[in-house]
Amino acid sequence: MAVVSHAARSAVQVLPEDAHNARLLAHVHPRDWRNPVPRNPYNLVVVGAGPAGLLAAAGATGLGARVALVERRLMGGDCLNYGCVPIKALVRCATAWADVRDVSRYGVRHSGELHVDFGAIMERLRRLRADLSAHDAVQRFTALGVDVFLGHGRFTGPRALEVEGQTLTFARAVIATGSHAGVPPIPGLAESGSLTNESIFALTERPERLGVIGGGPIGCELAQAFQRLGSQVTLLEADTHLLPREDAEAAAIVYQALCRDGVQVTVGAKIAAVETQGSLKIVRYTDAAGQTGEAVVDTLLVATGRVPNVEGMGLEAAGVMYDRRLGVQVDARLRTTSPRIFAAGDVCSRYQFTHAADALARLVLANALFIGRQKASALTIPWCTYTDPQIAHVGLTAAQAAAAGIAVTTFVQPLHDVDRAVLDGETEGFAKVHVKQGTATIVGATIVARHAGEMIGLYTTLMTHTLGLGALAQVIQPYPTQAEVVRKTGDLYNRTRLTPLVKKLMARWFAWQRGR
Ligand SMILES: Cc1cc2nc3c(=O)[nH]c(=O)nc-3n(C[C@H](O)[C@H](O)[C@H](O)COP(=O)(O)OP(=O)(O)OC[C@H]3O[C@@H](n4cnc5c(N)ncnc54)[C@H](O)[C@@H]3O)c2cc1C
Repeated sequence: MAVVSHAARSAVQVLPEDAHNARLLAHVHPRDWRNPVPRNPYNLVVVGAGPAGLLAAAGATGLGARVALVERRLMGGDCLNYGCVPIKALVRCATAWADVRDVSRYGVRHSGELHVDFGAIMERLRRLRADLSAHDAVQRFTALGVDVFLGHGRFTGPRALEVEGQTLTFARAVIATGSHAGVPPIPGLAESGSLTNESIFALTERPERLGVIGGGPIGCELAQAFQRLGSQVTLLEADTHLLPREDAEAAAIVYQALCRDGVQVTVGAKIAAVETQGSLKIVRYTDAAGQTGEAVVDTLLVATGRVPNVEGMGLEAAGVMYDRRLGVQVDARLRTTSPRIFAAGDVCSRYQFTHAADALARLVLANALFIGRQKASALTIPWCTYTDPQIAHVGLTAAQAAAAGIAVTTFVQPLHDVDRAVLDGETEGFAKVHVKQGTATIVGATIVARHAGEMIGLYTTLMTHTLGLGALAQVIQPYPTQAEVVRKTGDLYNRTRLTPLVKKLMARWFAWQRGR
């Protein structure tokens, strides 16, 4: 039995060192873990134990393949440790606080002091993360029959990977090494001690003034959450609107929501430099109008996008071509330029989501282990930004459809016409659907609503099974629910089928009926 080297272990630390994080580490990187003796050759070697790697390893083992899983840091990857899980724990607390803050809108009066206990909120986050980590634990995968190797994986050839001085040989391999936060080359930023998603969840004290560079999903979710929890947040986005990948009207609603919460948002911000003065960081920028400004903060978060993990893993030796910005090069079936090696997840996809990593890994299992011919382009992948309100989206926006030369008809159903949204006091938002002109075929949909992420699946189901928008009108939703907004877009579409000719024929029919 080989022992994981001290170097590998010392690189793995989750702060603060408390009982919750000790429990997390005991699951996702146990200190006393000993790598097994390789059972070469493997049917499948999986490099990286984030959502993509875990799915691939568990799936292949379940099918009876001999599988090795290699992870250099924490099983569960970004999603469990530094991404979806901790951020949603934080967002939940911020939403709870906002509900209490706004409770008088519902006629509820409270007397006495209410305050945010930031330390307790972060402890809850660590506790829940540790709870969920059992699912991704080394012990669970070992029990499934996977050989788990902790350490940095490096290809030494097209059929061999080295980890902690041992060589694993394979018939097939999957690169599932994910991505990390990119830090832009802004003068002074690297020296400023700024945080990324890998360090912000280690905070135990609330920053008084938090600067967030980047108004994408991670920047917006964290900016709103910290502002609601009592920090004064300044959010700087280089694009002309927040959430540049989203429908502009949808993003505008989130912009207004953030401003209402008190976030100081500047779009079109070009950051010139970050200056550190003692414990303060001064972010100097120019806004869209060319005016210079500065944000003085004590904590700075960088959320400017993700960079694929492709460095230092011997991809050249394996014959795998890659781009430092775009990641591992794959064909439609997720095969790399090395015929025995496939890739899945953030490292090769522009859909950098956990559910996308999961779906791509399933596809790789079929294509790598069997004679599968499944194409990633055939997948319909929705996503959601968990601000309040949320934006959920699937398919193309109107602008993307226009760029692709697809003429569309758009149906918009505002939430203020949905009874449940009125009763909930959550009328801000809409469902917007684009269909191919002259047909019912959905090419894209966006929902802005408090629980938009729970509703987008209705459109995704239609798109996946190539059902037209009209089919929605036949799907009965319980009354009153906000999901009725989606059904109503089906009604909107069906109304367009009442052409003048159909109306004329109907008028004749009713006239005839009256006269009988
Ligand atoms: C703050 C934040 C919030 C997010 N919120 C959401 C959300 O709400 N919903 C959603 O769907 N997605 C969300 N995401 C995105 C989601 O976390 C990622 O898309 C997902 O984790 C990608 O999975 P993956 O398996 O491709 O990679 P990762 O999760 O990055 O895992 C890759 C693993 O490979 C390991 N590795 C890298 N190189 C090597 C090597 N050479 N040898 C061995 N191991 C290696 C890494 O240590 C890592 O553990 C969020 C991300 C962040 C950062």
